[in-house]
Amino acid sequence: MTDDKSYHMTPDEFREHGYAVVDWIADYMNRVESLPVLSQVKPGDIRAALPTAPPESGESFGVMLKDLDDIILPGITHWQSPNFFAYFPANASGPAILGDLLASGLGVQGMLWLTSPACTELETHVLDWVAKMLDLPDKFKSTTSGGGGGVIQHTASDASLCALLTARERATKFTSNSTGINRKLIAYTSTQAHSSIEKAMMIAGLGKNNLRLIDVDQTMAMKPPELEAAIADDLEDGLKPCFVCATVGTTSSNAMDPLPEIGEICRRYGIWLHVDAAMSGTAALCPEFRHIHAGLEFADSYCFNPHKWMFTNFDCDCFFIADRAALINTLSILPEYLRNEATASGAVIDYRDWHVPLGRRFRALKLWFVIRHYGIQGLQHHIREHIRLAQEFADWICADDQFELAVDPPLNLVCFRHIRGDEINQRIMDDLNRSGKIYLTHTKMNDKLTLRMSIGQTHTRYRHVERAWQLIRETAGGLDS
Ligand code: PLP
Repeated sequence: MTDDKSYHMTPDEFREHGYAVVDWIADYMNRVESLPVLSQVKPGDIRAALPTAPPESGESFGVMLKDLDDIILPGITHWQSPNFFAYFPANASGPAILGDLLASGLGVQGMLWLTSPACTELETHVLDWVAKMLDLPDKFKSTTSGGGGGVIQHTASDASLCALLTARERATKFTSNSTGINRKLIAYTSTQAHSSIEKAMMIAGLGKNNLRLIDVDQTMAMKPPELEAAIADDLEDGLKPCFVCATVGTTSSNAMDPLPEIGEICRRYGIWLHVDAAMSGTAALCPEFRHIHAGLEFADSYCFNPHKWMFTNFDCDCFFIADRAALINTLSILPEYLRNEATASGAVIDYRDWHVPLGRRFRALKLWFVIRHYGIQGLQHHIREHIRLAQEFADWICADDQFELAVDPPLNLVCFRHIRGDEINQRIMDDLNRSGKIYLTHTKMNDKLTLRMSIGQTHTRYRHVERAWQLIRETAGGLDS
């Protein structure tokens, strides 16, 4: 009889606990606004509350859920709070969470078309939808004769790494995967680019010292003449320029690199242009903000993160490439155990060849649910609202003689500071974050500590932004006196 013994959760038990979990999440959505945004625990607090040894015999689900409240929740920084204004958002939504739950329920590993055709075909289709929704150049769609297409990557860091690896291979006529790199390949990005580009240089074996950081103008955008001068210098020194990464919406201040001029230079010198629009790309859902993508027709690859601002919970980066054959040539290896008729026919996409890992989750499901739930109009409505709130916040800053803008906000990130220097800005931020009422982070611009008000959480409304501004002014006033 012991043969029948099972420790597994039965479908009926799953149903019961699943309902409890969904209830828990719905309650969390209702109360998240009242929780301290930045976790108030100290290093080691969470581990100290956990048993040192794992349980010998299984525990009840109710106890686990209780520990979630008692032990884990105090150690959560609430990214889904409407009072979260730090970093860039990582927003989520009901349809995304449910899509992710279904992806877990299906438990698909979609490395090959064969291992779940729907996982692959839905992804190709939804990424073509996304390209259409953002009005990206046709070359990034899977349906164009040029052979482009999109894939969901884990993060923008992975997307940029794949772009760099493909640029490296193209620059070495697809030999460096076999022979290693036998000449110095040089890449370029601005001083304001995300650190993932430097990391990609390290991982790709190009060396971070071979990444030229190009100077920026007063809006913090890359200066094209300086890019061209750096390329010319490297060519004169016998080096091989192979990759430029331009940013649409830098992490520090949301600066927009001028794609038309940068693209023109890349085309002239035959250099791969990758565009990183991790957060700001989502703004192109609205026709009035599509100017951020002017010049994208020059790009070889492009990425943005629905997991930042498009209501799709982490992880979901959309990576588009104009020449998918180059990417596949860079990343494909086919061991015997993965060979199959569909792959051999050449009629299907095997996404394992489009990124670093072999295995992959069914992430297209949550993106599909988000797009279908909101519709293009619903997404546009919320993006417009976030940008409107940020612009209004910027107006309040301009109207207050104690505060100033560090730079005009192009979209939904406002960089500002108290006029009395770094110390008071640091104290305003620390006091506010310690209060748990809102969460703000900072950057340095022109060597001055600058506060960042990043507006993109799913449920942030006017009243949250208004209260944040009131708290900032009150805190500054208290410190002043
Ligand atoms: N690129 C830019 C412009 C970013 O702002 C960020 C993160 O904020 C990244 C890349 C890295 O994003 P990910 O966490 O998806 O790698």
